[in-house]
Amino acid sequence: MLRQATGNRLAIQPGLEKAIAERGRRLAPFFETRRRTFKVRDEKGKMETVEKDIVVVKDPKEFVNYVKEERGKESVRVKVGIDGGGGFLKACMGVISDEVPRSPTSSPVAKKPPAPIGGERFKDTGVKKLMIVGIGQGIPENHENMRTFMTELQLGSLSFCLATDLKLSNILAGLMSHASSYPCTWCQASKSDIQQDIPGCLRTFGSIRELARQYKKALAEGKRVGGQQFFGCVEMPLLENPDEDEVLDAIAPPELHLLLGVVAKLFDELTDRMQKELGSTAPADWARHQNIMREHYRGGTLEGNQCRQLLRKSLDLARNLPDKFKAFGIVLHRFSEVVTSCFGTEVVGNPEEKINDFKQAYFSLPVSITPKVHCVFDHVPQWLHRQQARSGRKVGLGFATEQASEAVHRDFKQKWEGGFKIGETRDQYKERLLRCVVRYNGGHL
Ligand SMILES: [Zn+2]
Repeated sequence: MLRQATGNRLAIQPGLEKAIAERGRRLAPFFETRRRTFKVRDEKGKMETVEKDIVVVKDPKEFVNYVKEERGKESVRVKVGIDGGGGFLKACMGVISDEVPRSPTSSPVAKKPPAPIGGERFKDTGVKKLMIVGIGQGIPENHENMRTFMTELQLGSLSFCLATDLKLSNILAGLMSHASSYPCTWCQASKSDIQQDIPGCLRTFGSIRELARQYKKALAEGKRVGGQQFFGCVEMPLLENPDEDEVLDAIAPPELHLLLGVVAKLFDELTDRMQKELGSTAPADWARHQNIMREHYRGGTLEGNQCRQLLRKSLDLARNLPDKFKAFGIVLHRFSEVVTSCFGTEVVGNPEEKINDFKQAYFSLPVSITPKVHCVFDHVPQWLHRQQARSGRKVGLGFATEQASEAVHRDFKQKWEGGFKIGETRDQYKERLLRCVVRYNGGHL
């Protein structure tokens, strides 16, 4: 990886590797392993409690200050991404210079040149600057495990913006899953409200705490109640925000997951309908022809880059579809304009107008509104407004959220398998995991 990117391995690599190892040594005192219990499924699928070694940053605030000093930044904002991909539950931290982005180079749809490697040339927001601040292997994402993980992370001492997928967002906010009757992380809209585009009252941490208390009290009194009677609030939130904070203040709409979710929803519906009504595999054939995907699509998932390519070529897709299905291509194109306008680190043009155009086009399709689509319609514009009202800056979702989680899984896996990997039950496991995390972070300082 280093070799490919530097293009001058003999001259640069040995020095760079030495520097990374040295940085890793300086970072080592900030991290430690801890043994904690987690709920996992055994071979028969039954939940059991097991002890696992995890690696966490000892003092997040001290760590952020160190990174800030090392990078010579005066003012920074912290973003945290939590994600369970690649077999490891990870909390990643971006320590970003709190400056207004200067050039409109951050459009997530536009084709980007490969980033150069090394030091200051990396953007703070990129995957090469992300640090792992908590990690554990094979930890299922449920409320109990996340409570343990978040307790160890002690992020309450920091002011940060969190982005994670909808499943974890709801767990962290104390809510039932996004497949429940009140699926939205950010508001109290019911499933049917969402289908009718009726806006929901925004959730605050105080309202979730109060409703969860009422729910637990009713259960304790032996009443037959369900979480849906309490707007899906069933647990205390795992974030320590004050009661008056809205969830939208703490958990940003996660750009990558929204991108993946919306594109997959539209492309799946198109693929299924054309197969069913015409016996045609045209959309998947087109995508293969465009080199967006190589394999047969159904049953697989699209990755971020594939979604971006698909969006870039959505007008071509529309041209290639029979009249009855052209609207799918048009809606994808409208979504592509939304992504260009506000999924990068800064706002380009008028995102509200783009979101409205996308919404109108989406309503012309016989397709349901998923919680992610609802989030784009309602909560993305709200979030953008707040950022501008607060800081006077027109920043996009990418300024505060994380679109690099896929890349972190890939990069960490490469590092882990390139010399550290060992069975979880072995004696040296925790030392190896700690060394791997420290080394990974050393390369990202
Ligand atoms: Zn909502």
